[in-house]
Amino acid sequence: MGEGSTLKRILILHTGGTFGMLEKEGVWKPNERISKDDLLSVVPELELLAQIDVVVPYIQDSAELTLGHINLLASTIADNRDAFDGFVVIHGTDTMAYSASALSFMLAGLGKPVVFTGSQRPFMQIRTDAKSNLINSVEIAASSFNEIALFFGNKLLRGNRTTKVSTWKFEAFDSPNFPTLGEAGVNINFNLYPVGNPTLEAQEFQPFSKLRETVFVIHLFPGLQNTDLDFLLHNERIEAFIIVAYGAGNMPTGKDSGLVGFITLAIEQGKIVVIATQCTHGRVSLDIYESARIVKQLRVLGCKDMTLEAAVMKLTYLLSRYDDDRQKVRTLFEMNIAGEITDEHHIVR
Ligand code: ASP
Repeated sequence: MGEGSTLKRILILHTGGTFGMLEKEGVWKPNERISKDDLLSVVPELELLAQIDVVVPYIQDSAELTLGHINLLASTIADNRDAFDGFVVIHGTDTMAYSASALSFMLAGLGKPVVFTGSQRPFMQIRTDAKSNLINSVEIAASSFNEIALFFGNKLLRGNRTTKVSTWKFEAFDSPNFPTLGEAGVNINFNLYPVGNPTLEAQEFQPFSKLRETVFVIHLFPGLQNTDLDFLLHNERIEAFIIVAYGAGNMPTGKDSGLVGFITLAIEQGKIVVIATQCTHGRVSLDIYESARIVKQLRVLGCKDMTLEAAVMKLTYLLSRYDDDRQKVRTLFEMNIAGEITDEHHIVR
């Protein structure tokens, strides 16, 4: 990096995804040999925006993402916190919302921007969206913006509010329950919102990079029978279930298809049961319908307006970090800790 330069220092973590893929035998494949020079030769403008360094923690199709990869991303950023002013993570789009959500919890208090990006077409192809996504992300990471975010198709979104909504559009991500943080047009315009709980935000940076596999997701559908899920209760690795229910958190409670028996047994075993929704917009509220009220009385937790990606990663993070304090896990899960939940008092009924 240039001595004496006034440009900000940005570390790009390249983890693969469509962004750097090459076409071989008719399919897009990850290119493990990609280097800093390859990247800069395709997007030389980056060096006008910042002093760039590139690390390649791993290269893969992001469908291969494990908690181990997320732990490595978190520890790489935490270890480089003092050496850089901001971070850009090039990531496959399929699981980008999970990684961005996870890092918002694992790196809370980082005090420096982390911008996730990727592309729908590889950067070597004509009409690629990779270059503009990367240039905008580096410019944002080198500005005074300071959040764990995701930039894609001209929109800057809060990382833990994002979800992938399109397999082919250049606007592949949305933030259904939270406003856009910025938009790139002739200029990049920012709309900034406070991140989260001010008490927690004031806490010191205490990075965490030891996520472990604890959570299991159940997606409800008409036809599911009440005994279909019983085998899951024999799996000791699972410490928490997220039930992706209908609407505001509703589910069958009747004799044949009802989940009351399953939830009761899970809770008796000391597992946490969380209710999420299959809807993209709005929030889980277990006080509107009788079926949800019956389930609420079993001591389940609600996801409020978290995305499923944020709920999965938050529960994984809390169970991994506060292993010995289930009450703390329960309390923090329903609290806004990193901007992932809209507080109820912002909602007018
Ligand atoms: N399968 C790719 C990935 O997630 C899709 C993409 O990057 O757009 O790695």
